[in-house]
Amino acid sequence: MTMYCPICSCEYQNSVAICPDDGGLLSHHRPPTNVTPLTVDIYAAAGEIEAERIVSFLRDESIEATRTQSQISQFPSISDNRFIISVSTLSKEKALLLLARARHDGIITTSGIFL
Ligand SMILES: [Zn+2]
Repeated sequence: MTMYCPICSCEYQNSVAICPDDGGLLSHHRPPTNVTPLTVDIYAAAGEIEAERIVSFLRDESIEATRTQSQISQFPSISDNRFIISVSTLSKEKALLLLARARHDGIITTSGIFL
């Protein structure tokens, strides 16, 4: 019978009682799979106020968006004070369309960068 580690979710055959990786006591029960939806970074806003505007704009369109301040400068052309907008991978295409329209309509500035 297959055994599961409750810590790392690895599967083992029943000749093993303890996970060799982390010492977790194996169980017959499959641990619940993580249902956290995948998110993708879509946009680097020019500042915190604009990032907040984008998040609320997307939420008005029923898209759950989050903003995080970029810690490292992944993109040399982007200053460190960027706020990264992330959405679920399922919402990515719609969010990109809405952001493009928002830029066109002047709801947000054009100083942000699509990622
Ligand atoms: Zn383990």
